[in-house]
Amino acid sequence: MKTIYLDNNATTRVADEVIEAIKPFFTERYGNPSSMHFFGGSVAREIANARANMAELLGASPHEIVFTSGGTESDSTAILSALNTLPERREIVTTRVEHPAVLNLCKHLARFKGYTVKWISVDKSGMIDMEDVKRAINDKTAIVSAMWANNETGVIFPVVEIAEIAAGHGALMHTDAVQAVGKIPINLSKTNINFLSLSGHKLHAPKGIGALYIKKGTRFSPFMIGGHQESNRRGGTENVPGIVGLGEAARLAMNNFNEENTRVKKMRDRLQQGLLEKVSQARVNGRPESRLPNTLNIGFEFVEGEAILMRLDDKGICASSGSACTSGSLEPSHVLRAMGVPFTAVHGSIRFSLSRYNTEDEIEFVIEETPRIIETLRAMSPFNVDNFNTACIVQ
Ligand SMILES: *Cc1c(COP(=O)(O)O)cnc(C)c1O
Repeated sequence: MKTIYLDNNATTRVADEVIEAIKPFFTERYGNPSSMHFFGGSVAREIANARANMAELLGASPHEIVFTSGGTESDSTAILSALNTLPERREIVTTRVEHPAVLNLCKHLARFKGYTVKWISVDKSGMIDMEDVKRAINDKTAIVSAMWANNETGVIFPVVEIAEIAAGHGALMHTDAVQAVGKIPINLSKTNINFLSLSGHKLHAPKGIGALYIKKGTRFSPFMIGGHQESNRRGGTENVPGIVGLGEAARLAMNNFNEENTRVKKMRDRLQQGLLEKVSQARVNGRPESRLPNTLNIGFEFVEGEAILMRLDDKGICASSGSACTSGSLEPSHVLRAMGVPFTAVHGSIRFSLSRYNTEDEIEFVIEETPRIIETLRAMSPFNVDNFNTACIVQ
């Protein structure tokens, strides 16, 4: 059976070009970039090349890029650095819908380190209100951490504007852009964003590699203390294959950026339209006009997400309910709960996330199979659904 992979917000396949680029660094070119000899030194040039590619994708300069072990490390590094460099400021501003990498760190800082965390709510479309942001940030704020795009719904936050408000109060701004990089245009050159996190495995590079953008002039306190690597900003021998792979993935993302993302968006829109047309009591979670081009989170009322996933899986279709990190615990998604999605729809919410490797035929197959699955499950459901008969997009 063919696998139809629609779970690209959980992780992506490594691009063939990335694998080819990485290979030599396990075999012929295994030198340590810090070595004095040519064998190692030539590897340092490849790291510089990867850094330049990454910087170009972000509209940054190469020295502003530090390679890390992934999105989680980048998030921790940014937030803890801000708290260390602004020790007199004891407040953190973040949102209720962050990835656990930020959410749980902030909870930890509140519980065990005495910081005050201000949690910005979202409306039913998953969007924040800038008035709430303005009210939360003040001269005691050390760091504002708001994700660029949400991993569950794809909703895009106005982080550039948030950064301006933060800067007005002398606070630092961090954005978890793990889901945004490569999917929407990013140009950091004229923004007040101090820190930006990204992860390789959401971008067709391997797992265990990521990067942190640190704006020039931002005071920085390292998380990993050790050797002089990464200009003393991240100790530890570099993950050379990972870095080379991430650089290649950045280069590939820049190739036909608009064409590829337009093609993905067209498939996503077709999937959304097809499912809303064929399934009653279905609702899109997440503001349609401010959403990643690849993500569709759709709630099918009166069915269990886990049951849908299992039946999709039987057809070779990989999707996700809630976020990959919370599924397995059967806890309803904190993101959908923060949006006030009704209980009956939270449980039946499925996230389809596409990539440039998907095809139109795959999407048609999913549009064919999913309604049948929902119908079967609803026929078995104890809930009476006869009184409801509208498909709607929540604004
Ligand atoms: C996947 C993800 C992360 C974590 O990245 P890792 O490289 O897996 O540590 C952080 N934030 C968001 C929004 C993500 O989607």
